[in-house]
Parts: sequence; C-alpha cells; structure tokens
Amino acid sequence: MDSIDKKLLWCLLCDEKFSLADIENGIYYSATGICKECYKKMAKSEQSCFGKKEVYDQSTLECATFCPDRKICPTFAIQKGVGKT
Ligand SMILES: [Zn+2]
Repeated sequence: MDSIDKKLLWCLLCDEKFSLADIENGIYYSATGICKECYKKMAKSEQSCFGKKEVYDQSTLECATFCPDRKICPTFAIQKGVGKT
C-alpha cells in the first residue's frame, strides 16, 4: 500500500478528502487547504476577486503580500479558461 494515495487531507471549503498524490497532481493546494474545484468555483464567482485576470495585480500589496491565495490566484488568473470548465 502506498501512503501517497492515502486521503489524509481535506478541503476547508467542501470537506472533500485528498491525498499527497492529489497535491502533486495539482488537485489540492496544501498551502491553503483548498481544492482545485473550490478554486474553480471562486474563479467563476462574482463575489470573489480570485483568479480574475482583470483584477489580479502583482504590484499591489493586496495581491502580492496579504491575499491568502496569492500563490494560487495568479496561476488561475494567467491560465486562460481554467475557471471555465
Ligand atoms: Zn474544495
């Protein structure tokens, strides 16, 4: 049995369980404890600035320093269409 496939982690938003392999596969973000599906929903949500190419600005303190999603947001904001599937 492979411990990398054990689902020991969970998403703080949807409670879904994830494994270390899911981190490697980019399905779960250990830095924030939130899964890709939830980030996709945030990227589509009008109530969140997350993953919005028009809003993300690395030159602002908010985006570069204070945002808890600052490491993940740009990957969504830059990759076109990630939030649209
Ligand atoms: Zn989730």
